Amino acid sequence: MLNKEFKRKDVERMRNLIKGKTGESAELQVGYKAKKEDHKEGDIWEEGNKKWIIKDGIKQTYTKLDKVRKEAILPLFCPNCGSLMKKRNDAKMYKIHKKCFDCVVEMEHKLRIEGEYKKYEKNIIANNAKNYVDDLEKYLLEAINESNTSYVSERGEVERWKGGIDKKEFTSKMEENLKSFRKQIKDYKNDKT
Ligand SMILES: [Zn+2]
Repeated sequence: MLNKEFKRKDVERMRNLIKGKTGESAELQVGYKAKKEDHKEGDIWEEGNKKWIIKDGIKQTYTKLDKVRKEAILPLFCPNCGSLMKKRNDAKMYKIHKKCFDCVVEMEHKLRIEGEYKKYEKNIIANNAKNYVDDLEKYLLEAINESNTSYVSERGEVERWKGGIDKKEFTSKMEENLKSFRKQIKDYKNDKT
């Protein structure tokens, strides 16, 4: 396991890369250091009409984190069958299906008998791919808006541009690609592949 200090340094390095500050050490960034002194891990404060928190060394909106936390909370009982959800796979299954592991097994068994399993499986794969593309879009948009000298490629590498990038052009190209990804997913789901 990585310790927190290492993770924070790692995050700082990543931020510097995205902001195109590869040559500068974190200590030289007066602005960032000042912020670090003001707010430590776990701090919550208001700034620009938003609540912020430092979590894992990253400043993020508290509401966003709150939503993630709420979604991650596992209810005590399965909403479908009412049994106590404490088995090993219950949490994982609840996140996807909003029911316990046993209920998912039963549902999948039924679908197999009814010959609907393939369709169901495709649906799950397509949804995963869709979520991935949505996350990718969010990530790329954030990276573009943070920087005008570099961007993060699809493989997650930071690519550097001489003289900055045309944000508008890059964003429209990116949206074009994402649109094509989404169409491919839709076609896969509708059996057009
Ligand atoms: Zn259940």
